Amino acid sequence: SGMHTYGANARAFETEFAAWNGNKHAIFTNSGTAALHMALVACGIGAGDHVLVTSYSWSSSATCIIHHNAIPIFVDIDFDTINIDTAKIEAAITPRTKAIVVVHLHGLAVNMDQVMAVARRHKLLVIEDACQAHGARFNGRKVGTFGDCAAFSFNQNKCLCSGEGGMFTTNDEATYMAARQLWSFGETRSPSESRDYHA
Ligand SMILES: *Cc1c(COP(=O)(O)O)cnc(C)c1O
Repeated sequence: SGMHTYGANARAFETEFAAWNGNKHAIFTNSGTAALHMALVACGIGAGDHVLVTSYSWSSSATCIIHHNAIPIFVDIDFDTINIDTAKIEAAITPRTKAIVVVHLHGLAVNMDQVMAVARRHKLLVIEDACQAHGARFNGRKVGTFGDCAAFSFNQNKCLCSGEGGMFTTNDEATYMAARQLWSFGETRSPSESRDYHA
């Protein structure tokens, strides 16, 4: 097609991935880390905000928070699952806590009923780091459909590989539009369409 980045195939992949996972929207990125950055921006995380995150994961689950001048607050893991200990989330919440990055590590879904209950009680946004968990389910429902948005990775080490790559997913229109603007320097138009560089 001559489109090496965001052509018809990339769009088809977004549409098919969203349908397969049960999300309204998906945005193809160059990495899972980029999808995590997109998630923080889409959730409006900024300077000084506290964001809860599991203490054991790939580094970018936490560094994406720092890169947006927010502060990662680590929550210890549960040794039976190696995932975040959902019983310890509440104690880590401060008046500055805006969101929680939940990581479904090694393909094992976190108990999202428990996470969403705490999040609703404290009005926290929930970002699912599903970079290692394509197709993983909690109570029969795929990860990446519980929180406000999610990040997947298609790096060579992951369950599904595109060389390098990632996917941001959400079911919320406003979150989708906020994320879409981050995709290419503030532009929302595909490079295959004529551009007028409004960035
Ligand atoms: C791999 C991974 C990432 C980052 O994905 P990249 O595509 O390598 O940037 C983030 N979180 C977790 C849990 C991962 O395993």
